[in-house]
Order: sequence, then C-alpha cells, then structure tokens
Amino acid sequence: MTQYQKVSIPAQGQKITVDQNGQLLVPSNPIIAFIEGDGTGPDIWRASKRVLDAAVLKAYGGQRKISWMEIYAGEKALSVYGENEWLPSETLTAIKEFIVAIKGPLTTPVGGGIRSINVALRQELDLYACVRPVRWFEGVPAPVKEPGKLDVIIFRENTEDVYAGIEWAAETPEAIEVINFLKTKTKKAALRTDSAIGIKPVSAFGSKRLIARAIKFAIEQNKPSVTLVHKGNIMKFTEGAFRTWGYEVAKSLFPDQIVTEEELYSQYQGQMPAGKVLIKDRIADAMFQQVLLRPDEYSVLATMNLNGDYISDACAAQVGGLGLAPGANIGDFAAVFEATHGTAPKYANLDKINPGSVILSGVMMLEHLGWNEAAQSITRALSMTISQKQVTYDLARQMEGSTEIACSSFADRIIDNI
Ligand code: NAP
Repeated sequence: MTQYQKVSIPAQGQKITVDQNGQLLVPSNPIIAFIEGDGTGPDIWRASKRVLDAAVLKAYGGQRKISWMEIYAGEKALSVYGENEWLPSETLTAIKEFIVAIKGPLTTPVGGGIRSINVALRQELDLYACVRPVRWFEGVPAPVKEPGKLDVIIFRENTEDVYAGIEWAAETPEAIEVINFLKTKTKKAALRTDSAIGIKPVSAFGSKRLIARAIKFAIEQNKPSVTLVHKGNIMKFTEGAFRTWGYEVAKSLFPDQIVTEEELYSQYQGQMPAGKVLIKDRIADAMFQQVLLRPDEYSVLATMNLNGDYISDACAAQVGGLGLAPGANIGDFAAVFEATHGTAPKYANLDKINPGSVILSGVMMLEHLGWNEAAQSITRALSMTISQKQVTYDLARQMEGSTEIACSSFADRIIDNI
C-alpha cells in the first residue's frame, strides 16, 4: 500500500479492485475516498454521509459497511498541504489506488493556478464519461406540464471536443500562425486574420469508448434505447463521425443485443424485438425540442462534450433544477461521484442548503458498487420526504404548503423514511 503524508487510511476496510476484464471487485467493507468540498460542501457532506451509512446499514444489517477515507482538494487542501496545493498529487494517487471517490463542490481558483480542479481531476484520471441521470421527483415544481415524462441518463464525453482547452486568443502569434497555415488549405471567407482560434478534436477512440459504455449501461439496466446526439449535418467530420463511430461500435461490440432504428423499420416492421436496445441518433438542435415535446421516447443519451453540457442542464431545469441533479465522472478504472452544482458560498455553514444532489450522487455510487438495495432505498426515501413537503429552502420557496427544514433535518427525514 502507498505511504501517504496526510491521508489516513482507515484501519478497518479493504481496497476495491478491478479485474482483468475491467470488472469492479467490491469487498463487503470497502474503503471509499471522499472530498468534503468547499463553501457549503461540509454541511452537505455531513448530511449525505449519514444518509448513505443509514441506507447501507438498513439494507445489509451490518454485513456491508463503507469505511470512509478523507482526501483533500480545494480550499481545505490549502490548509492541509500549504499554498497553491489546490489538488495535491496524493489526492490523485489515492483515487487511483482506492478507485471509487465521492466529492462535494469545489471552488474554482480565480486567476493563475490551475483552471478548474474538476477539469484537472477528469483529465488526470482519464474519467472520460460524465454520467448524469435526470428524472423528476414527485412534488418538485417544474416549468413543464408533465415533468415525470423525462427520465434520461446522459453519457457525456469528458475529455475532447472544444473543451480540450486548445485555443488561442485573436491576434496572438500562435493564432496568426495557425490561420496562415489554414489559408494554405482552405479559402473560407470566415477565416479572418483577427480570428481567435479554438480546436475541436474528436477521436474514434474517445467517441467509441464513451458510446460503448452508454450502450453497455443500457443493456445491463434494461433501458429501451440509446440516442446518439450530434450536429453531424454541419460538422461532418467531427460530430458526423461521432454518429458513424457510434453505429460502428454498437454493431461490432453488441451485435446480438441492439437494433438500429433503420433495422427496426426494414427488418422488424417497427415492432421492437424483446430484450434488445434500440440505437438511434438525433441532430442536437432537434434533440432539445424532443426532450421537451416527446421526452418519454428517450432514455440513454450519448453525447459529445459541449452538447452534453448544454443538454444535461436543460434537462435538469425541465424537472426542477440543479438542487437534485447528481453526476459521476467515470473512467475504465476510477470513478468520482459529484454534485453538479457549485459551492454556493453565501450559504456556507448555515446548515441550509439542499444536500439532494450529493445524496443522489451517492446513490449512483452505490449502484456502481452493485449495492442496489441500499441505492433504491435512498431514492424511495428522498421521494417520500419531498412528497411529505419537508424540504430545504430552495424547494420550500416554490412548493405551496411545504415546511422549510435545515440541510441536516432534511437528511434526518430521509433517514426516517429509509
Ligand atoms: P453555485 O455554487 O452552483 O450556486 C449558484 C446558486 O445555485 C446558489 O446561490 C443557489 O441559488 C443555487 N444552488 C446551488 N447549489 C444548491 C443546493 N445544493 N441547494 C439549493 N440551491 C443551490 O454556482 P456559483 O455561485 O456560480 O459557483 C460558486 C463556486 O462553485 C465557484 O467557485 C465555482 O467555480 C464553483 N463550482 C464548482 C462546481 C463543482 O465543484 N462541480 C460546479 C460549479 C461551480 P439561490 O441563491 O437562488 O438560493
């Protein structure tokens, strides 16, 4: 085992490992790393941890238990490791060694330093799939008439596309050099000499591994379809290739488990054969209409980085906002589960904020471990707590007849309902 300077490895508990086939091997007392987060992070983490532990205890009666191990990032890492240590290398080593981690929100340092701790974590650990389930909880106010019709899981590619961070400001020597090179290849009028330049890398490798993960998930979880979302009609060689590679990977890796939309009509008269997953694709702008107008026709969505960023927030808004939107960043080995919202610093230490997003990220984590009984009991209990109208301020201010309760009391009510 690696020697750590500041991380205390719990005396009780074993490491989660991954076998040769990439299968997670989870002991009954796994060590799981957590980063409590900045701002409201400590309030939220305290509440979430209690809910996760209570659900595991109830589901397995002491046969299974998580041993939590604190690791550091963000402002707390500065106090533990010293100046500029926003993301200590020990933290990355610990996630690589212990494989599963959960985190609260982290402050993005402004000016200098690294761009974003979250982006750095994803890149350093090659957490290539950002997974965001979006569903409605009964009673949560939403801007659409039938929010319950939306129930999707978005698999967003996390490492490429215009988010790769390859860009140059207008009129810098680098931008001018690239423009001059491009002028030798194309006479496009939009290539003006005072342009800023950003690069959009989209690889077969990056696209295929993300789409394969989305399809595998759909098969394992008995989901009806996977939709490839792209803007390939305009960006043919990047977004169009994402679509092409998607169908390729579906047919080559899962030949007996999938049916494409084209095959559905040419071979099956539009009747979906039992036990198979439908693979379809939609142009990104049409997809934004589809999730509003025909949400129940969609289940798993596989998207590139930018499209996925937009569509996951749009879907979350449709069912009542970010307070209950969980997420996970998953690679072939490590996985980091996280809230999708930020640190909401004005509410720090007021025991006020909604811990729902981290709690639901914990539900995803339990599902990842295969501890589905505990996961399901939390989702049920959270749902029940909301329907009892015992909610934190953000929901209370929109829900008629509700009682506003503190962050910790919301956790208590969920625990009562488990
Ligand atoms: P934010 O922290 O998400 O907060 C914006 C507003 O969203 C809050 O003022 C609050 O709205 C609402 N909100 C957020 N979380 C909530 C929760 N759990 N329960 C109820 N309401 C919630 O966004 P920000 O103010 O733009 O960012 C603050 C810091 O967080 C920045 O340093 C940013 O870089 C960082 N950040 C981190 C992550 C991450 O770690 N994954 C993600 C995004 C941002 P009301 O004021 O209306 O109550």
